[in-house]
Amino acid sequence: MGFTFHCRHFINGQFVESGERFTNINPATEEELGWVAEGGREEIDRAVQAAKRALKGEWGKYSIHDRIAVIRRIGDLILERKEEFARLESLDTGKPYSLSAHLDIPRAAYNFHFFADYLHSVGTESYQMDSGQFHYAIRRPVGVVGLINPWNLPLLLLTWKMAPALAMGNTIVAKPAELTPMTATLLAEVMKDAGLPDGVVNIVHGFGPHSAGQFLTEHPDVNAISFTGETHTGKTIMAAAAKSLKRLSFELGGKNPNIIFSDADLDDVIETTIKSSFSNQGEVCLAGSRIYVQRPIYNQFLERFVERTKQLVVGDPFDSKTDVGALISKEHLERVSGYLDIARSEGRILVGGKRPQGLEKGYYLEPTIIVDVDDQCRVVKEEIFGPVACVLPFDTEEEVIARANDSDYGLSATIWTSDLKRAHRVAHQIESGVVWVNTWFLRDLRTPFGGMKHSGIGREGGAHSIDFYSELTNITVKL
Ligand code: NDP
Repeated sequence: MGFTFHCRHFINGQFVESGERFTNINPATEEELGWVAEGGREEIDRAVQAAKRALKGEWGKYSIHDRIAVIRRIGDLILERKEEFARLESLDTGKPYSLSAHLDIPRAAYNFHFFADYLHSVGTESYQMDSGQFHYAIRRPVGVVGLINPWNLPLLLLTWKMAPALAMGNTIVAKPAELTPMTATLLAEVMKDAGLPDGVVNIVHGFGPHSAGQFLTEHPDVNAISFTGETHTGKTIMAAAAKSLKRLSFELGGKNPNIIFSDADLDDVIETTIKSSFSNQGEVCLAGSRIYVQRPIYNQFLERFVERTKQLVVGDPFDSKTDVGALISKEHLERVSGYLDIARSEGRILVGGKRPQGLEKGYYLEPTIIVDVDDQCRVVKEEIFGPVACVLPFDTEEEVIARANDSDYGLSATIWTSDLKRAHRVAHQIESGVVWVNTWFLRDLRTPFGGMKHSGIGREGGAHSIDFYSELTNITVKL
């Protein structure tokens, strides 16, 4: 295909290489996209030192107005290069171009626009005591923050952390997922074009364990880590970060229940459940992968869900008809396929479960529905992170709440019902950080986002992001 895009690190405002490189593969064609500089301890240290210096330099003197202006400009420049960003994102991830162009990239730009606007209204507390003394708090940057991201929504998630970190005046060392380094590299060009001072944002490519990721989490001069990825990786990072007592924010895995009561609007349920199961190839932390359907409508739901699933077009991410692209890598396809083998022995695959015909190259998998499994089956308990949904019947409200909560995870849940009282009653009892009623993935960036239990620590969004990326100092004045 002749397309080549090499990824260098971006350290102290310069694109630089390392001695080592690795190859970046297009998951939809299995062809090479280019090489990626492989960072190690030395590159992380150079990036952290640059970020440390930048805190004390020109950036540290920026007024709030200056910060708002540059953050806004970054968002504008992403939109100006939207097609380029979207193309790279789809080449890197295998996701449909239509999704990159309509969701990932506009949302990445909006992350900057949102926090630029939000900064106008960021305040702190102030209290007056009876005797006239008063207290007020001021916000300062936390310092150098490390941002570590997964491969499923590369630019969207990187900018979700980067925008509030910049808004609060921090400097950044980011480590993108090794499988998706391209849009982060393009973002570095945008940072330069937007006029961000050197060293404020640094990007070091590399792997996780024993590589750039681990060295970033261990670096004594990194003050905070915001991490999105697997629960297991979160535990490793927590242990590494404990040595230098870093502030942590974790957005981790999920195995999200989707509870459909028999009084729900089934047309709406089907269309949204198709999205919550299969969009982005099911590689979404918020995917509703445990679908509990009340018994009176179980057969009807299944029939319509299967019929609609069969209509989904799997294939070339750059074909406008494509609904489901390629999975991220050969290893991930094998991992997901391993779960399908388990499903065949623990239950039954009703539709999908194979590589699609006619697609010999690329890591494609048909959207898959699993039935006849119980709650203790591995496919119902573990995060599969592919286009795979388990459908399970239930009888009562009390029963489904207990079953939905019987999970180590607690990221999100969806409740479908036309009974307003029941919607709230159930929402209040579900153990997850996010509950949607009669919808899915409807986000407002002011709201708290994150998971409970093994799905995360802390919340991001609006004031929650501002709190994470700032240090408060309380000042008491005796009059
Ligand atoms: P991983 O945890 O494998 O990797 C995430 C990032 O961490 C990558 O950049 C990885 O580097 C890096 N990393 C791996 N090991 C270490 C380490 N020891 N020290 C420091 N960094 C490390 O997750 P995936 O990339 O596989 O992403 C999928 C997971 O992300 C799923 O569990 C999903 O649910 C979760 N996720 C959660 C979201 C949420 O908001 N809660 C949103 C999106 C995804 P490298 O890949 O280069 O090795």
